[in-house]
Amino acid sequence: MVRGLAREGGRVSGVTILQGARHWKSGATIDVAMRDGAIVEVRPSQSAEIKSDTLIEAAGRVLAPGLVDLHVHLREPGQTSKESIATGTRAAAAGGFTAVACMPNTNPVVDNVAWVRWVLERAAESGHCRVHPIAVVTLGQKGEQLAEMHALAAAGAVAFSDDGRPVMSAAIMRRALEYSRPLGLPIVCHEEDLTLKGDGHMNEGAVATRLGIRGIPSQAESVMAWRDVDLAALTRGRVHLAHLSCASSFEALRHARRRGLNVTGETCPHYWMLTEEAVGDYDTHAKMNPPLRAEHDRLATIEAIVDGTIDCLTTDHAPHTFEEKRQTFDAAPFGIVGLETAIALTVTGLVEPGHLSLARAIELWTDAPRRVFGLPQVSLEVGSPADLVLLEPEERWTVEPAAFYSKGRNTPFGGMQVRGRAALTMCGGRITHALPAVVIRRGAETGAAVGAM
Ligand SMILES: [Zn+2]
Repeated sequence: MVRGLAREGGRVSGVTILQGARHWKSGATIDVAMRDGAIVEVRPSQSAEIKSDTLIEAAGRVLAPGLVDLHVHLREPGQTSKESIATGTRAAAAGGFTAVACMPNTNPVVDNVAWVRWVLERAAESGHCRVHPIAVVTLGQKGEQLAEMHALAAAGAVAFSDDGRPVMSAAIMRRALEYSRPLGLPIVCHEEDLTLKGDGHMNEGAVATRLGIRGIPSQAESVMAWRDVDLAALTRGRVHLAHLSCASSFEALRHARRRGLNVTGETCPHYWMLTEEAVGDYDTHAKMNPPLRAEHDRLATIEAIVDGTIDCLTTDHAPHTFEEKRQTFDAAPFGIVGLETAIALTVTGLVEPGHLSLARAIELWTDAPRRVFGLPQVSLEVGSPADLVLLEPEERWTVEPAAFYSKGRNTPFGGMQVRGRAALTMCGGRITHALPAVVIRRGAETGAAVGAM
């Protein structure tokens, strides 16, 4: 059971029935009954009146396991002007997510057991989805001394990462892979050679030259991706390549796959939606790390998703304050928010143009990330946790950053017309998000009476 979700007004007791939803894989129209946080019955939909304590009208919507984002920055402890566990997970629920893995580059960083426990406790108190903490690879993320990986894993860490910074020393990365291997947990690699990045602020190329902004070559990412694939071969360790953005990094991942190495990889919506051109007139909302790349990298991103090179999708949700992002391009921090636009950008950028089926697109946000981090699987079957999302894949809407649940407004997609959104999210059987248009009937309105279908 997920504790701490009751406050959301979504408190549900007895039997809840989702009526008339379209199964995300089979396309069949189904009714799903839930009790005590789990699915208790699934059957072909019947139009007859159903007795339940809570009835959710789901006709015309697609029902899928709740989405999972393996790469978010919830900013707690310490940076609550950017985001908090409460606001970040509320944004996640609004985006259709029932679980997130959060990065440890907070202030202080999550580099000991006490902070892992603290994150889990905060999430239980104030969270609106399941939260899986990622712990650091090196103490203080300084890249010098390994963290206590066994103890961190025992406390609940699901992976290790110095995200925000690379592990520059290949020797330290080698040791990290050796120590984490028996734990079966991945090292999530933020691939960036700092000597190649230098003082760069966007992709190296014609746009950077025109704007007079120092550039970051794509090799700053890919040489490290190739290095860590090689270290995976040396150690047989478990490598997960984070937020890949360029053609050469996808080649490294393909190479790893051919060699049968224990390497997986992710990419994010902005890399298939946008290029360096989005920086336009020094727009800091298009400043992220790795940076938006050239058109051939954007096309390579789509290809790597379509051909299965990419294992799963993530947002790299990285909220910053308005004041931070309003600075000059060089001074502003890297990063954009992503939880509330993820599924729309997936439908708009990958499904609508015909690159992926809707089912495959959803899988990249549900079953696939659960497999990558070894999280418990969720299905639309009896006995599964009721961690579910009702999607409206056809729905058109306009991205309005002011309406985000996240504290972050830093998105380059503001004002964009997109398609597809989460209408309702349930976590552990509790409603954690619902659009006003969703009809939810409770108690007497449903024809009363307990007892499943
Ligand atoms: Zn990163």
